[in-house]
Amino acid sequence: MEVRNNYINGRWQASVSGATREVINPSNGEVIALVTDSVAEDSKQAIAAARHAFDRDGSWRRMAGPKRADMLLRIADAIAARADELAVMDTLDNGKPLREARCDVDDAVACFRYYAGLITKPQGGVYEVSDGFGPMHAYSMHEPVGVCALITPWNYPLLMATWKLAPALAAGNCVVFKPSEVTPLSAVALFEIFDAVGLPPGTANLVLGSGPAAGQELAASHDVDMITFTGSTRTGQTIAAAAVGNLKKVGLELGGKSPNIIFADADLEGAVEWAMIGVFFNQGEVCSAGSRILIEESIKDRFVARLAERANAMTIAPGMKDADMGAIVSAAQLEKVLGHIERAKQQGATLVCGGERYVEGDCANGYFVRPTIFDNCTRDMDIVREEVFGPVVAIQTFTTEAEAIAMANDTPYGLAGGVFTSDGARALRVVKEVRAGVTWINCYNPTFNEAPWGGYKMSGYGRDLGVNGLLEYQQVKQVSINLQPGLVGWYPQR
Ligand code: NAD
Repeated sequence: MEVRNNYINGRWQASVSGATREVINPSNGEVIALVTDSVAEDSKQAIAAARHAFDRDGSWRRMAGPKRADMLLRIADAIAARADELAVMDTLDNGKPLREARCDVDDAVACFRYYAGLITKPQGGVYEVSDGFGPMHAYSMHEPVGVCALITPWNYPLLMATWKLAPALAAGNCVVFKPSEVTPLSAVALFEIFDAVGLPPGTANLVLGSGPAAGQELAASHDVDMITFTGSTRTGQTIAAAAVGNLKKVGLELGGKSPNIIFADADLEGAVEWAMIGVFFNQGEVCSAGSRILIEESIKDRFVARLAERANAMTIAPGMKDADMGAIVSAAQLEKVLGHIERAKQQGATLVCGGERYVEGDCANGYFVRPTIFDNCTRDMDIVREEVFGPVVAIQTFTTEAEAIAMANDTPYGLAGGVFTSDGARALRVVKEVRAGVTWINCYNPTFNEAPWGGYKMSGYGRDLGVNGLLEYQQVKQVSINLQPGLVGWYPQR
């Protein structure tokens, strides 16, 4: 089996470790590829290549915005041209249904196009200022941060890569990218595209390997100017601590335990379907998953019965069969999800449906879990407090708006939240009070390249996407100009 390698300084090369890692198809447990398994030395080489490309070569950062935009547009076109192949790749690697992987590829194309457009728009401002030193004129300009290290998780392999690579490159940075070791394949394809469109050597470097062996160096290195990370809160804390040595800029998109608040006056059928999209989409392996449903007491029984009916009717199959739900990403994640389910049962939550591994038909050797609903959950239960990252939802009830808001915010996380009601003013009141960075009214989970994405509290800091997503990868420089050069007269001449 051919080994996929790192891409450093414009060349494909194996890790100095000489080791390889198997990539597993979670739908059947079979090995689908081998990738090089990098160590800190590989990351050091990639950082050195990016450093040289940024500091000495400088061709990417000096390239005029519209020219960089052209490159990004060519990348977008190349992704679109390989769309089918990339969608299949993410489906086989991650386990998600093919139609969801196709949406990811479309979003990735649009994301490169969005940042290609954005970088050609004016940035910065001009300020007429004046003080005791005489007339001055100041302007601000946006510059790349420098060498940026980007680390992503396994739930949206191509899309998480794109959310970081597109704005980082648009801004003129040189980057070292480490995808999740669990799902590295579409990242390799993306770098084949970078190679084909002719990014200057060292501009974008790829390191394949585990977090502790290859990723830690990216966070700790004093030659890296910024680290941006999407993944678990625990790893985010490790990265932030490692980054402190040179006070590099840090962006963290972390986990969540997001509330989906449903009032009795909501459209019930709509709320049920959006709740499913909220927590069963992508097998629930979504950082913003609406994994806590807070429902008004008076409609709870009706809502839960209908949600369970629809959850039980969901089809489950290997991603290529395009059922409603695919496989959990790995054997380790399957064990983690099943462990959460067992603990919820032990702690007294009522299992309404699912609650077990799914092994029917061609799912026998894969890592599938039936959509799972727990009712009568209380605030002290782990299923209410901890992120599962699987198709498991906890139901709690409230009777007043104030109680719903208090329950929604009763979590160390603050990534996302939704509210369903036909009372517009109440919807706005509630989302205003929810301490989270991404909120929805009468829908759950739609995400747009144009709008900022990121968390409050222990869901991290910084934003992906939108204008804010570009600003993350930029420094702002003030340039002040004296309009009357010459003697100032501040110090009397003696
Ligand atoms: P993870 O934290 O285990 O790993 C994420 C990435 O970090 C991987 O590439 C991994 O190799 C790397 N890593 C691990 N240890 C490291 C270290 N010490 N130094 C540097 N890098 C290290 O997360 P995961 O299991 O891949 O993904 C699931 C998590 O990601 C969930 O908690 C989920 O909520 C979160 N997530 C958040 C968002 C968001 O936008 N907020 C999006 C997707 C996923």
